[in-house]
Amino acid sequence: MSKILDGNMLAKKIKSEIAEEISRDGLSVGLAVIIVGDDPASRIYVNHKKKDCEECGIVSHEYALPADTSQDEIVALIRRLNEDSEVNGILIQQPFPKHINVTEVNETVSPLKDVDAFRADTFGKVGLGVAVNPTKSELRVKALCLRPCTPWGVMELIHSTGESVSGKECVVVGRSNIVGKPMALMLLNESATVTVCHSRTRDLGEVTRRADVLVSAVGIAGLITSDMVKDGATVIDVGMNRDSEGKLCGDVLCDSALMDKVGFITPVPGGVGPMTRAMLMKNTLTAKKMQS
Ligand code: NAD
Repeated sequence: MSKILDGNMLAKKIKSEIAEEISRDGLSVGLAVIIVGDDPASRIYVNHKKKDCEECGIVSHEYALPADTSQDEIVALIRRLNEDSEVNGILIQQPFPKHINVTEVNETVSPLKDVDAFRADTFGKVGLGVAVNPTKSELRVKALCLRPCTPWGVMELIHSTGESVSGKECVVVGRSNIVGKPMALMLLNESATVTVCHSRTRDLGEVTRRADVLVSAVGIAGLITSDMVKDGATVIDVGMNRDSEGKLCGDVLCDSALMDKVGFITPVPGGVGPMTRAMLMKNTLTAKKMQS
C-alpha cells in the first residue's frame, strides 16, 4: 500500500458519488460564491470551486464584487441569497478586504446555507459531536449536519487508511477557528487523545514526536521536520505555502528521512486541498436536503 494519501483520487470518488445522487434523484442544487476584491489566490480557488460544481452537477452562482464594496452591501446580498430558493449554499471566499467584519458576514449566512460551517452554531454542533456520534434521536441530525470542510476532509483522508483514531495520540498543530480547533474536536469525537499545539507551544518537537496522527495547519513551510515525527505516524499536511521558487508546499519538509519514517502522508498539492473542496460539494448537497 502506498504511503501517499492521494486527496485528488479520494475527492474524485466523493464528487462522482455526489454527481450520481444529484442525477439519480433529479435534484437541482445551487451554490453561491461571493468574492470581494481581486486577490489572485482567491480567484484561483473560486475557479476550482466552479469546476467542482460542474463535475457534481451543482449550479454555481458567482458574485464578484469590487474591493471597496461596503459591509452593508455584502450583508444585503447575503440576506437576498438566504431567501433565494435556487441557492442552497452560500460561500464567501476569504480573505476579505480589511474593512469587512468577518464575524458579521459569516453570521449573516442562513444556518441552512452555511456550507463553510463558519457560523458559531454550526461550530457548536461539531463540538457537541452530533455530526459524528449520534444517539438514535440524533440520527436525523447526523445526516443533515454541515461540517467544516477542511477538517472533515482530513478525517476522510485518515479513514481512508483503514485505521481508527480511537485511543491514539493525535496532535494538531495550529488552533485557528476554521482548521485547528474543529480538527481537534472531530478527532476527540472519534475518541482520540488530542493535543493542540500553537505559536506559544514551548517545545513543539517534544509534543509532535508523541503523535500517531499528526495534523499540521500552520502556514510555515518546512516547520515539521523528520526528527519531529514518530516512526509509522500518519502525517496530514494542511499547510499551503510558497517556497523560495514560488512553488506550492506544505508545512512538512518532505525529504527522504521523513518519507522513510511515516506510515502515511498527504502531499501538497494533491492532499487536503482537493478534499476540502469535495467536502464543500458534500455540504452543499446536505444543505439542499436540509432545506427540502
Ligand atoms: P491561521 O494563521 O489562522 O492559524 C495558524 C495557526 O498556527 C495559529 O493557531 C498559530 O498559533 C499557529 N502557529 C503559528 N506559528 C506556529 C509555530 N511556530 N508553531 C506552532 N504553531 C504555530 O491559519 P489557518 O487558516 O488555520 O491555515 C493554516 C494553514 O493551512 C495555512 O497555510 C493555510 O493556507 C492552510 N489551509 C489550507 C486549507 C486546504 O484546504 N488545504 C484550508 C485552510 C487553510
